[in-house]
Amino acid sequence: MNEYDSAKMLDLLSEKEEFTATDTPEDADLLVLNTCSIREKAQERVFHQIGRWKKLKDKNPNLKIAIGGCVASQEGKKLSQRAPAVDIVFGPQTLHRLPNLYKEASNTEKKQLDISFPKIEKFDYLPQSSSDTVTAFVSVAEGCNKYCSFCVVPHTRGHEVSRPVEDILVEIEALASRGVREVNLLGQNVNNFKGTFENEKKSLAFLIEKVSKVNGIDRIRYTTSHPFEFKDDLVDLYKDTPELVSHVHLPVQSGSDRILKLMRRRYSAASYLDLISRIRENRPGISFSSDFIVGFPGETDKDFQDTLDIVEKVGFDESFSFIYSPRPNTPAAEMEDNVSKDTKKERLTILQHKLNELSSKISRKMVGSLERCLVLGVSKKNPGELQARTENNRVVNFATDANVVGKFVNLKIVDQLTNSLRGKLERF
Ligand code: SAH
Repeated sequence: MNEYDSAKMLDLLSEKEEFTATDTPEDADLLVLNTCSIREKAQERVFHQIGRWKKLKDKNPNLKIAIGGCVASQEGKKLSQRAPAVDIVFGPQTLHRLPNLYKEASNTEKKQLDISFPKIEKFDYLPQSSSDTVTAFVSVAEGCNKYCSFCVVPHTRGHEVSRPVEDILVEIEALASRGVREVNLLGQNVNNFKGTFENEKKSLAFLIEKVSKVNGIDRIRYTTSHPFEFKDDLVDLYKDTPELVSHVHLPVQSGSDRILKLMRRRYSAASYLDLISRIRENRPGISFSSDFIVGFPGETDKDFQDTLDIVEKVGFDESFSFIYSPRPNTPAAEMEDNVSKDTKKERLTILQHKLNELSSKISRKMVGSLERCLVLGVSKKNPGELQARTENNRVVNFATDANVVGKFVNLKIVDQLTNSLRGKLERF
């Protein structure tokens, strides 16, 4: 979501203030930091970065520094008080006002702060994307009403809002006409999508069906899913919608019912496993990835073992795992925590080792198979090769003289490397 927001900030600044992006901060008139506050570490980095940028500002007094995203939303005025070099503070829901905030800051030399949650749809103010990629993010809903006890998102991005289906389709049709072949529908709690179509509220499954009919869009992903909101019509869609990839990111967080309850996740390990098997019934071979939090307040050895057990049972593909980080204004931050830092670190290492083993096993199994891949461009490792992605998001590098960038190809997987696969072009 932050990547998507950053791209929109650049689109806006280019359109309204004729900015262009530079890789050299010394050349910049405006430095924008789009921040994340999901864990404390991400938040701390913000102040380090501002410290480095302050030195540039000392050399160039006309330089403006803008801080956006969830740390800005969370800290508000405190941010520019703690870091006086900051000129503009804006939130995820006011990023469309960034060009105006910049103009005001330049004209008046006064600090600008706007972290409100305006009722108006910011999407109405965003210009068409200028990116020329083969895959694109499309924000379809924002915010979250789930209030998981560990999570800061409802406090920083606000309540759930869904965009109308018609608007999303216009955006996706425009992307498709510029060569985009794969879209990733974004929302903090995307399964609870409730956008309207002809003034009637519709589900994520309805939206996906419509998107699958857009000419040129042959691959659809969506993220992030909440298991509690995974509706039956979406499960059904896996039967007969080939555009929907055979991969779902479905964060389970923990395998312990006791911890899931404390997290306020509203599902049990058993109901999560049941959902997985219902999706698998409709789409044999589908892979699942997840997010995990280890060391939640009071997590016992038994709770942690339950997490390892569910990992084994599902056989997760490449996943993300984090040590619990207390966040401001969240109930979990007030819970008693008797688990030592060392134990948390140890558990994270054990879990990550297991997850790596599993995803490596999946890669190994792919060797010898034929994979339908979308060719994204030139390989990062070797400019003489191209890079493609499988449905379960594996990077495949392969050599070819054919002009297949932006196309779907069948690649025979011939080798497994540490972070990627090697392929051979079969036909396209
Ligand atoms: N539904 C959200 C999830 C994003 S956060 C969305 O897509 O916007 C990504 C992951 O960060 C979560 O799934 C969770 O595993 C982890 N996370 C969230 N809050 C956390 C915290 N306080 N400490 C550690 N990890 C956290």
